[in-house]
Amino acid sequence: MQWFGKGSNNVEDGRSGGGKTALGGGIGIIIVVLGLIFGKDLTGVVNQLPATTGTEEVKQGVPANDAQAQFVSGVLESTEQVWDAEFKAMGKEYEYPKLRLFRDGVQTACGYAQSNVGPFYCPGDHKVYIDLSFYDELKNRFGAAGDFAQAYVIAHEVGHHVQNLLGISAKLDEARGQVSKTEYNRLSVKLELQADFFAGLWAHNAQNLKDFKLDAGDIEEALTAANAIGDDKLQKQATGEVQPDSFTHGTSAQRMYWFKKGFETGDIRQGDTFNSNNL
Ligand SMILES: [Zn+2]
Repeated sequence: MQWFGKGSNNVEDGRSGGGKTALGGGIGIIIVVLGLIFGKDLTGVVNQLPATTGTEEVKQGVPANDAQAQFVSGVLESTEQVWDAEFKAMGKEYEYPKLRLFRDGVQTACGYAQSNVGPFYCPGDHKVYIDLSFYDELKNRFGAAGDFAQAYVIAHEVGHHVQNLLGISAKLDEARGQVSKTEYNRLSVKLELQADFFAGLWAHNAQNLKDFKLDAGDIEEALTAANAIGDDKLQKQATGEVQPDSFTHGTSAQRMYWFKKGFETGDIRQGDTFNSNNL
C-alpha cells in the first residue's frame, strides 16, 4: 500500500504524557511496595485508582519523522474522504472523529483504559484510541504484518464511529438490560461484523482516492488481520474500565466474510448485519 497524502488534522498525540498522573503513579508504587512487604500482589489495586487528565500532555498532529504515526494519520485522512462522500450520498454530514495516540494508559470519556484492551472507539468523546505497540503485537503474536493490516484496524474503529453517528450503537445500548445476555452478545457480534464491513467499504473506496495506491496482497493482509483477531484466535480481557473493542466476538471466518463483502460491493446497503440471517 502506498500513500501520498498530507495526513489528517484530527490526530492527537498523547504519547509523551501517558494516561496516569504523577500522583496516581506515586500511589501505585507505594501500593506495590506495600504488597511486597506484606507478601501480597496488590498491583490490581493500582488499576482501580481514579486517573485524571490534568497532567496529560496532548499535542495536535504527529512528528514529521514518525513514519508509523504519519501512516496512521494518512489512513485516518482517507477514512474522512471516504465517509464524507458516503454521508453526502445519504444526505447527511459526516463529523470527523479524533484519533488519539497514547502509550500505556489513557483517560477517556468512557473511563480509564490500558493498552492491553487493544485499539478502541469511545462513543462518549467520538475518539479512536490506539497505542501503536498493538501493531507489534499484531505482527509478532498474530502473524498479521503489513501496512494494510494496520490500516484495517483504524478503518474498523472508524466503522464504530460511523455506527455511532448513524444511531446504530445507540440501539444496541437500548437493548442492554432489555434482552437476555445471549441475545445481547448476538447483537454485539452483529455490531462488530458491521464495523468489519465498513472497513471493507473503506478499502473499496480508498482504491479510488488519488493519495492511495493498493498493492497486490493488501487485501490478504487485511484478511489476515481480521482472521487473527477473531474470537477463536484471541481472547483479550480488559483490566481497565473501558469496554474493550469487542474483538472477543465474531469468528475469524465471519469477520473475513463481512470485510470482503464490504470490499467487493462498496455498497453500504449490503452491510446491514442486523437484518441478515446469514452471518
Ligand atoms: Zn470493533
